[in-house]
Amino acid sequence: MTGESVQYLYDMSEGDASMRPLLGGKGANLAEMKRLGIPVPDGFTVSTAACIATTASGGEWPAGLWEDILDSLTRLEERTGRTLGGDQDGANPLLLSVRSGAVVSMPGMMDTILNLGVGDDTVEALGAEADNPRFAWDSYRRFLQMYGEVVEGVAPHAYEDELTALKARRGVEQDTELSTEDLQELVRTFKDVSRRELGRDLPTDPREQLRGAIDAVFGSWDTPRARVYRRANGIPDDLGTAVNVMQMVFGNRGDTSATGVCFTRNPSTGVSELYGEFLVNAQGEDVVAGIRTPRPLAQMEEVLPEAYTQLVRTMADLESHYKDMQDIEFTVEDGTLYLLQTRSGKRTAAAALRIARDMVTEEVLTREEALQRVEPAQLDQLLHPAIDPEHGRSPVTKGLPASPGAAVGEVVFDADTAAERGGAGEAVVLVRYETTPDDIHGVIVAQGVLTAHGGMTSHAAVVARGMGRPCVAGASKIRIDVPGRTLTIGDRVFAEGDMITLDGSTGEVYGEALELIPPQINEDFQAITAWADDVRRMGVRANADTGEDAAKARELGAEGIGLCRTEHMFMAADRLPAVRRMILAESEDERAQALATILPMQQEDFEEIFTAMAGLPVTVRLLDPPLHEFLPDLVEQSLLVQRLELTDGDAQELSAARRLLGQVKRLHEQNPMLGTRGCRLGMLYPEIPEMQTRAIVRAALAVREEHGQTAGVEIMIPLVAYASELKAQRAVVERTVADELATAGAELEVTIGTMIELPRAAIVADQIAEHADFFSFGTNDLTQTGVGISRDDAEQGFLSTYVADEVIPGNPFESIDRDGVGGLVQIGAERGRSVRPDLKLGVCGEHGGDPASIGLFEELGLTYVSCSPYRVPIARFAAARAVLAQRGT
Ligand code: PEP
Ligand code: MG
Repeated sequence: MTGESVQYLYDMSEGDASMRPLLGGKGANLAEMKRLGIPVPDGFTVSTAACIATTASGGEWPAGLWEDILDSLTRLEERTGRTLGGDQDGANPLLLSVRSGAVVSMPGMMDTILNLGVGDDTVEALGAEADNPRFAWDSYRRFLQMYGEVVEGVAPHAYEDELTALKARRGVEQDTELSTEDLQELVRTFKDVSRRELGRDLPTDPREQLRGAIDAVFGSWDTPRARVYRRANGIPDDLGTAVNVMQMVFGNRGDTSATGVCFTRNPSTGVSELYGEFLVNAQGEDVVAGIRTPRPLAQMEEVLPEAYTQLVRTMADLESHYKDMQDIEFTVEDGTLYLLQTRSGKRTAAAALRIARDMVTEEVLTREEALQRVEPAQLDQLLHPAIDPEHGRSPVTKGLPASPGAAVGEVVFDADTAAERGGAGEAVVLVRYETTPDDIHGVIVAQGVLTAHGGMTSHAAVVARGMGRPCVAGASKIRIDVPGRTLTIGDRVFAEGDMITLDGSTGEVYGEALELIPPQINEDFQAITAWADDVRRMGVRANADTGEDAAKARELGAEGIGLCRTEHMFMAADRLPAVRRMILAESEDERAQALATILPMQQEDFEEIFTAMAGLPVTVRLLDPPLHEFLPDLVEQSLLVQRLELTDGDAQELSAARRLLGQVKRLHEQNPMLGTRGCRLGMLYPEIPEMQTRAIVRAALAVREEHGQTAGVEIMIPLVAYASELKAQRAVVERTVADELATAGAELEVTIGTMIELPRAAIVADQIAEHADFFSFGTNDLTQTGVGISRDDAEQGFLSTYVADEVIPGNPFESIDRDGVGGLVQIGAERGRSVRPDLKLGVCGEHGGDPASIGLFEELGLTYVSCSPYRVPIARFAAARAVLAQRGT
């Protein structure tokens, strides 16, 4: 890429909201606001193309970029009538902010430099102009600290320690209590700190500083924390960030200045109400970083009435312009309001549903548009547990309800420990004074986050809400001793590893592990899932093996059962001995006896499920276990024989143990997952599918007798590779169904289909379809056998490294490998339908509940997806969104 073909620089007046890929979210929305006549500070944007080119060349700026920036700067100086670095005598200085602005917002992840342009030459003029020297010196010391930390990499505590020491010497608590002379002293000290830490002075030429600041923002795109955030949020690495260079406006010029953050609706609940925080005489980072605790926005009406009225009007204008809840940053400089940012606000799932529903009622959005505003995966948040209200305990303290849901876990005090223990599957709650973007890897795996400091818009709150983690922020009464690893609340001291419970919906913190209950599904949820049902084309069924699961699935909107795994019914402790006898039987008689014991148990299971599904289809899959799951372990059985031999034990016992060992050895397989599974077992022992078919038919007839209706019975043959297998198994099932119905003198419609879960089956799907009324893609085994990765070992082995190192885009057992396994599904679907155009095609692997995979299944025109009961609502949504995506709406 060269400067000739790509435009690297855009004046703010050149852009609009549609230019997000080039200008980043912040830059595009600033340009849009300017276009709408909303007051924003003037400036220009260095495009994402410049960042991408710089990153690609290992940090080298593209030719001509710096010259373009200087041209843009000159134009900005002309428009503002000010000069970077001031005029000859330092008067009339232009001060700049340099802010990152990615295409997809990454709150707090990337760098910002403020007050660029204040220096020894300009500080006096700045103070004189504002008639407030204190403000000028305060800006100067802030700049030195930010520049030193962000651009030069000086450790933050180096400056912070000096500030704390000075406040201690002056006996004050707040920065605002320091005098002009104190701040002048701090500027001198900060220069010394920089010299000490870097072995040289910070650059004093503002153009050189500007270059360094832009370069630092480019660099912040590729920091470890930014990469972790992108991976966690599925943001591509090659988007790059834009850099917004804007004239500074000052919220810290005195008591008629302020800065704040607001949302046009409540981002926790979705209620349309005033929601925000502000601080008088402060700069933006004071609010976001939680250094001073801000005031509720409503109080601004008394302090700065005109700016307040204008802000409230602008909030409404922006929301109706964007047709979405906005997250806004503003500054009031000497009573004049400026908007520094607007973007679509992050919100909880509950809020997303409420807002979407309200905006349809308000006729701002159509139902279909509203569906686009709710991420299917966000619904997971609504399925989060809450604290059982019967707990009868009192909270030990209360903070702000920053992100809803309840979390129980052991206290840990740093993000690394949280990442390590949480990553290993332990329940931990991350307790921090305040979180910073560097804590992100710990927040991701913690059950919840508790902070002592910071408001509802602090970093901890925003990040936790985005991830659906419960968070209590600003619990100011807690004391944390990180080196000593203790948390003190009142007179209670918690050591690392002690249990606490957070209620992110109320802000309450409990000093013990409380019982959690599953969440309730509210009216917004019901209304919006009903809209999704109107839009979606694919059916949504559930994978359920018990009456209880089936009932839950129906409650959550499943339209049938797509997979009832019968082997789970065989594993119950009271059944295992009979199942074992069946497998190990050495004569047909012996096997028949064992099967006769199992049959009524199976029938009972099916009766429960058919009753729960009252007329909806139920796909019962015949037995599909790797044999070893039912047999004693080979090593243990060998040891038992050895022990009996050594102890000269009971001869009869020894002989029985030896016999069993012989049988186990005979049936032992090196690769049980590729062994006598699925229909292979039924091919060896047709008595097994026969017994299961009898149980299914008898159950269906019994339920019809009792309830007047029965579920639609579909019998599914697993792990078929050859059409001849299906042909043979189908014959067994058909013969048995006919036999049972003749005996009962009844009629019942039973359809017979198969799973497509081996690559061979997908390839010869046309041959298989000759014998199948339906297919169900078993994408778990299709991934295992198609990619050649063991399902059972995958996550513990190389796969996690592959995902972390981005060798592959993600875990193919979670989200379908589109090109490979997706290709097999496509082949299976097309070839199957080439023989039977009306062939019903389902998916019952885990991917049936994964929104991204559901997108592919819609593209392939499958009939339905089937997933675990709790994922059913997500699948209903995702299926509707997939239709909208296909339509390109
Ligand atoms: C599959 O393989 O995708 C499937 C649903 O079957 P199971 O997970 O029971 O092997
Ligand atoms: Mg399978």
